[in-house]
Amino acid sequence: MTQSVTRKHLFDLPDGVIYLDGNSLGPLPAAVPGHVARMVTDQWGQMLIKGWNDAGWFTQPGRVGDMIAGLIGAPAGSVVAGDTLSIKVYQALAAALQMNPDRRVVLTDSGNFPTDVYMAQGLLDLIGQGHQLRIVAPEDVAQAMTDDIAAVMLTQVDYRTGRRHDMASLTQAAHDAGAVMIWDLAHSAGAFEINLAGSGCAFAVGCTYKYLNGGPGAPAFIYVRPDLAETARPALQGWMGHNAPFAFDMDYQPAGGVARMRVGTPPVIQMSALEQALSVWEGVSLADVRTASVALMEQFIAEVEARCPQLTLASPRDPAQRGSHVSFRFDAGYAAMQALIDRGVIGDFRAPDIMRFGFTPLYLDADDITGAVDIMADILTTEAWRDAKYHVRGAVT
Ligand SMILES: *Cc1c(COP(=O)(O)O)cnc(C)c1O
Repeated sequence: MTQSVTRKHLFDLPDGVIYLDGNSLGPLPAAVPGHVARMVTDQWGQMLIKGWNDAGWFTQPGRVGDMIAGLIGAPAGSVVAGDTLSIKVYQALAAALQMNPDRRVVLTDSGNFPTDVYMAQGLLDLIGQGHQLRIVAPEDVAQAMTDDIAAVMLTQVDYRTGRRHDMASLTQAAHDAGAVMIWDLAHSAGAFEINLAGSGCAFAVGCTYKYLNGGPGAPAFIYVRPDLAETARPALQGWMGHNAPFAFDMDYQPAGGVARMRVGTPPVIQMSALEQALSVWEGVSLADVRTASVALMEQFIAEVEARCPQLTLASPRDPAQRGSHVSFRFDAGYAAMQALIDRGVIGDFRAPDIMRFGFTPLYLDADDITGAVDIMADILTTEAWRDAKYHVRGAVT
């Protein structure tokens, strides 16, 4: 019997809101504000610089990394937190290319998130050795694993449609072609079980403000397969990833293990918010989370298709091919999403016409889904989205 994973009391959600955007920015865990306030006054305020040792600020990126490791199927000591996901993508790709110096192609797919692609383009230009970024359709990735590829860089779950790559088989295919495999887990970590170590991939990266609820700007993470962690080059050779930062040596020597992927001073306040936020996962089985999220997604799709015929499913119909969000296409999707948000149902919009909804069973249940579709059906039937105020675009959609 699956235990209910819903624990709404652990989150501070505004009254009257049905939050279907935890795949983009997780909500505030109730214990975070007090924890951060105490950290600021008791640690920063009272300990001052002694906090680096006495409050464990220096070792926190590894400690938080271990908490994340437990949620992504990685062993303790293989993950470190810090920087942003864009930076961690850069480091992973740079390290992968140095491991495969005779090859010149990086393979990714057109469902990848733009920043991953931009970071790769910038890195390849900088290297200036004729590297090429090859972008294929997501369904063609398996066939595109040719023996000229240095590194395969994929995001497991497509940010628009929720389409999910099979990590084990694609990692195997990359290895068979002699390529280094990098996974981006931005829409995977905290959404479902991941057997990262079992996949054998070399590197994985992800962010913590989506399903892991670390807050806006929360640090990212990077995993390095343990047998590579003594040789992988971090590219961004910051002093916090040095073997002896406080020796102030003029020559860079990487730290042992994944700690070499640290760059500069970590954002301690934000890291503390994340450390506390991760405590909501204590005793939670990601297999149960997944079972519950599939049930919520199936309910949502069935109710939307029955009551909102104006919308077209953009996500794979088979839940096994999906992450934990569901997208529908609608020509006036932007305005319809604004109208939904105005009535307390928060999802988001991705150009050109995708209405996106995330399913996070820690704080959503079947009644929330029905409530959300009630409002959506009303907005579509009354065409409330035609109101001019719903057509004004903000900087962030
Ligand atoms: C959310 C997301 C990012 C965001 O990168 P930041 O550096 O944190 O802004 C990058 N890649 C993917 C695949 C994402 O989903």
